[in-house]
Amino acid sequence: MDSLCTSVFETVFKRSTAGGYLLSPTPEFRILAVNDTFLEATGRTRAELLGVPLFEAFGARPGDEGGVHALRASLLKVLVTGEPDMLTVQRYPIPVIAADGSRHFEERYWSALNTPIPGPDGALACISHSTIDVTDVVRLRSQARQSADEVARVRAEADLANRAQLLHEVNRALEAERGRLAHLFEHAPGFVYFTEGAAHRIVQANRALSALAGPRDLVGCTLAEAFPGEGAQAFRDLHDEVWRSGKPRVAGALPLLLRDAAAARSLVLEVALQPVLDRLQQVTGICVQGHDITERQQALARLAELNASLEAQVHERTAQLLELAEREHAILTSAASAIIATDLAAQVTSFNPAAEAMLRVPAVQALGNSALAFFDVAELLEHAAALPQEVRDNAQALPPPLQDAMRRPPQQPGHVRTEWTFVRGDGTRFPGLMNISVLRDSHGQAIGFLGVLTDLTERRALEEALRQRSTQAEAASRAKSAFLAHMSHELRTPLNAVIGLSQLLRLRELPEDVGRFVGHIHDAGEQLLALVSDVLDLSRIEAGELRLEEAAFDLAPLLDTVLAMVRPQANAKGLALMVDIAPALQLRLIGDALRLRQVLLNLLGNAVKFTAAGSVTLRLRVQAAGAGNALLRLDVVDTGIGIAPEQQRHIFEPFTQADDSITRRYGGSGLGLSIVRRLVHMMKGTLSVQSQPGQGSTFSVELPFRVA
Ligand code: ADP
Repeated sequence: MDSLCTSVFETVFKRSTAGGYLLSPTPEFRILAVNDTFLEATGRTRAELLGVPLFEAFGARPGDEGGVHALRASLLKVLVTGEPDMLTVQRYPIPVIAADGSRHFEERYWSALNTPIPGPDGALACISHSTIDVTDVVRLRSQARQSADEVARVRAEADLANRAQLLHEVNRALEAERGRLAHLFEHAPGFVYFTEGAAHRIVQANRALSALAGPRDLVGCTLAEAFPGEGAQAFRDLHDEVWRSGKPRVAGALPLLLRDAAAARSLVLEVALQPVLDRLQQVTGICVQGHDITERQQALARLAELNASLEAQVHERTAQLLELAEREHAILTSAASAIIATDLAAQVTSFNPAAEAMLRVPAVQALGNSALAFFDVAELLEHAAALPQEVRDNAQALPPPLQDAMRRPPQQPGHVRTEWTFVRGDGTRFPGLMNISVLRDSHGQAIGFLGVLTDLTERRALEEALRQRSTQAEAASRAKSAFLAHMSHELRTPLNAVIGLSQLLRLRELPEDVGRFVGHIHDAGEQLLALVSDVLDLSRIEAGELRLEEAAFDLAPLLDTVLAMVRPQANAKGLALMVDIAPALQLRLIGDALRLRQVLLNLLGNAVKFTAAGSVTLRLRVQAAGAGNALLRLDVVDTGIGIAPEQQRHIFEPFTQADDSITRRYGGSGLGLSIVRRLVHMMKGTLSVQSQPGQGSTFSVELPFRVA
C-alpha cells in the first residue's frame, strides 16, 4: 500500500464508525487496508483479508449473487469513470462463526459508497469503500410494511363495524325521530287528523281531536258521524269544498255546535284543511289541523266589553273632572277674596278676578311676576319670621334676603301674622288679611304657595267709626253722670231743708192730721235723700270721680258704729243681730273707712230688710296677706227670703231688683248692691252671694288692706 492510501486509511477509515476498506484500482480489487469496524462487523481478521482479492474473501453464497454483482458493477464503474458511486441497501449475507465453531450465513443489508482516490499524478491510486450496516433499518422497514398491512386490514374491519354501528345509529335516530313525530302528532296542542274519501272517513287523529269531540275516539268514523247536526254543517261544508276543489282552505273563526247526551257546546275553531293528492293529482283525503279558540274568542269579547266599560268610565271621569274644573274656575272667578297661587319662587301662576280688582292689576300682567311685589317689602322683611311655619319651611326658592329675615327670632314667638299692608298696581296701599298656605301635589310634595286675601279697608273704617262712637258714648255717659252727680248734689240742699224744717215742725204742737202729714213729709224726705245719695255715688263712680281715701282707721269702732245704725231696725222687727268676730281684732288699717262702712251698711241693711224672722249675723275673719297686709273677709248672713239662682246674676246691676213685687213690699231703688260691687272692685276686693230661696242669703266680701 503506497503512502497516499496509507494516509487515506489513517485519516478516514481508522477512526470511522462506518466499516470500510481500501481496494487496489485493479479489476481483482485486492484489499489494501481494512478498518476495525469492518472487521468487527464481518468477524474477520486483518491478516485474513489484507492482499486478498475482495470477491475471493467475500464470495457469494449460491442463490445470493445479486448483492455481489451489484458491488462488483459499482466498483468497475468507479474504476472506469473515476466518479464515486453509491450502493443503497444491498442484501449481503455474512458468514458467521457460532460459539460451537460452526459457520453459517447471516442475512445482512448494507449501504456503501465507493470513492475513487486519485494519486498526485491524477491517476487512480485506490478505491475507498465505506459501508454502513443498514440491516436494522431494512428489518424495521419490513416490519413496518407488515404493520401497515395489518393496520389496513384492521382498518377495513373497523370500517365495516363502524358502518354497521352507523347504520344502527341512523336507525335509532330515525326511530327516535319517528317516535318524536308521533308524540308531537299525538300531543300537539291543536287537533290534527287525516280523512279519506268523499265521506271524509277519519283514518288518523290525535288526542286533541278526541278531547274536542267528546272525549271519544273518532278514528274510523266519517265526518258526519263524528260531527253530526245542524251546528256542524259549516264545518262539514268546508271539508266538502276542499274535496271538490282540491284547494287548501283556512277558516279563522268557524262556529261549531257540538251536541252530546249531556249538553250542547258552542265552540269556535281556527282550522286549516290541506288536500292530500295522489300521483295523478287526485284528491284522496284531507289533512286537517286546527285549534279550539273558544276561550280566546270569549276573552277577546270580554276584553272588548272591558274596553268599552273602561272607555265609558274614562268618559264619565273626564266629564266629572271637567265639571270640577269648571266649578273650581267658577269659585275662583266669583270668589270675593283675592286668590293668588304662585310657584315656590313666588312667581304668580293663578290670579283670580277678585285679585285683579283688589290689587288693580290685570291677570295677564301679574302672571309670571313675583307676588312679593304686592307686599310692603319693608314690612314683609321686618315681620317675615311671623309667616306661617309651613311657608318658612318651604322657602328655599324665595329671595335670600327674605329667607334670612324668616330665620330671625320672631318678635312674638308663636304668633302668625295675617294682617299685612298690600300695594296695588297703582302704588296705593291698603290693609289686608292674607292666609298663606303651601300648595302640594297629590304626593304631598310642595309645589307653590296659595294666598287668600281679603281687603280690610272697610272693616278698618267700621272699627274706627265704632271706636269713635264708643268714645262719643263714653263722653255722653260721663256727661250724664256728671249731670246726675251735679243734680244730686243740687237736690240735697233743698232736701236737707225739707227734712230739717219738717223735723222742726214735728217738735211743735200741731193739729193731729197736720202732725201726720209733717211726719210723712219728713220720711219721704229721708227716702229721697237716701236715693239721691245713692244716685250721686253711682254717678260719681261711673264718671270716675269717686276717689278712695287712704287713711289709718281702727276697725273695731267702725264695726260698732255700723251695728249701732242697723240695730234699731233689727230690734223693731224682732230680729237677733249677732256678731261673730275672731278675737284679737284691735286692727288699725289703712284705707277708706267711709266706703267700708257704706258697704257693710248696705249689706246689713238689706239683710234686715229682707228677713222677717230669725237673725242677721256679721262674721269677720282676718287673714294675713304678706308683710303689712291683711285680707278682711266679711260675711253677712241672714235667715230671710233668699234669692232665686237665676236672679243672683242680676242683682248687682243698677236699678235691678230680684222681683218686681219687692219694690212694692220692701221699697228700695235697686242701686245698693251695684254701688257695693263697684266700691268693692275699686278697693280691689271681691263680692259674692250664696242664697237659697226661703232659707236666707250670705253676702261675702273680701277686701285687702294695708296694716297701719
Ligand atoms: P234695693 O234698694 O232694692 O235693696 P239692692 O241693690 O240693695 O237694691 O238690692 C237689689 C235686690 O237684691 C233687692 O231688690 C232684692 O231683691 C235683692 N236682695 C238684696 N239683698 C238681699 C237679701 N239679703 N235677701 C234677699 N234679697 C236680697
